[in-house]
Amino acid sequence: MAHEQTGQAPAPSRLVIHNIGLLLSGDIGNPILDADTLVAVNGKIAAVGKAKDVDTENATLRIDANGTALTPGLIDSHVQPVAGDWTPRQNQLGWIDSCLHGGVTTMVSAGEVHAPGRPKDIVGLKAMAIFAQRAFTAFRPGGVRVLAGAPVIEHGMVEEDFKELASAGVNILGEIGLGSVKDGATAQQMVSWARKYGIQSTIHTGGPSIPGSGLIDKDVVLAADPDVIGHINGGHTALPDDQIVTLCERSPRALEIVHNGNERAALLTVRTASQLNRLRSVILGTDCPAGSGVQPLGIVRMISMLSSLGEIPAEVAVCFATGNTARQRKLDCGLIEVGRAANFVFMDKAQHSAGKHLLDSIQKGDLPGIGMVAIDGVVSIQRSRNTPPATRVPEVVKD
Ligand SMILES: [Zn+2]
Repeated sequence: MAHEQTGQAPAPSRLVIHNIGLLLSGDIGNPILDADTLVAVNGKIAAVGKAKDVDTENATLRIDANGTALTPGLIDSHVQPVAGDWTPRQNQLGWIDSCLHGGVTTMVSAGEVHAPGRPKDIVGLKAMAIFAQRAFTAFRPGGVRVLAGAPVIEHGMVEEDFKELASAGVNILGEIGLGSVKDGATAQQMVSWARKYGIQSTIHTGGPSIPGSGLIDKDVVLAADPDVIGHINGGHTALPDDQIVTLCERSPRALEIVHNGNERAALLTVRTASQLNRLRSVILGTDCPAGSGVQPLGIVRMISMLSSLGEIPAEVAVCFATGNTARQRKLDCGLIEVGRAANFVFMDKAQHSAGKHLLDSIQKGDLPGIGMVAIDGVVSIQRSRNTPPATRVPEVVKD
């Protein structure tokens, strides 16, 4: 019941995790913490440190990490939910739960654009966004938090519409370009209205995703100036290399790389961001469900791909899917830091990986094995049904 919104205060909880072999913070400025013990109280991180320095008494739940690595819960910055744990794009049930088995504990909607019969009139699109925001606040498959209610802007919207959406609880826009607004000037006007009322924006960068969507090139992105350059590596069709480099050089906004994009363009983006010393702007999404399907391991696949082929240390690549995204999107999770949400993934190198240890295995291109995922201080799953099996797994121990 811990993940249900019952309206009653939850019972006090105190989670103690000991014997952590490697603690990855999600903070790109300091990605590996010198600590082996973590305490979370009522779903928030309360202490991190060495066992001798942390009060580990009075646990209501105790986990022996058994020498495995602990990372913040992974964040998928770009999903296309509709309603419930169902996607009409591939007519698939349970896709969010499958992604939980890939370590994802938080998802951000880039628009509920696959909704059959999606309304495009202004009152209709506002109503649908408010519905999605409410529904996914109350519905958390396996505990996964889906930040949804992301309206796609259409011609005719006025400042009052953004004010109304914000006061109704909507704080993200869907991908600009998937509606009728595809020109920089109109997009920029609506992005600035959205920003004025605390609504973050993202844009569909690159060629059309499916018949009916359009091209958004670098000039439109730069003019619109959204908070997130959505799938800078295309979704799936990427912009020419020189345009991607220009976006990295000229836009200060988040550089979002997605699984369902162009992989070569993803590597170009990460190398360019590295040269520009702005890897902290890089965030990851799957852009699923999509024509390419649903990838439950999409985020860990991106971490391994960018680390192994993009020469990024594995602990830094993990930050792309945790702390970087949390900071860009102002989320309360994604970092191992006192006060943050107690969302954790326990990983170890996959059985029989050629890597010497977890980080080495990722840098060699293997996927990590996930042994447990916790959300808000509660164990959501134990050994993942989707990753290759972890060599070691944590266990819940009785006091
Ligand atoms: Zn898109």
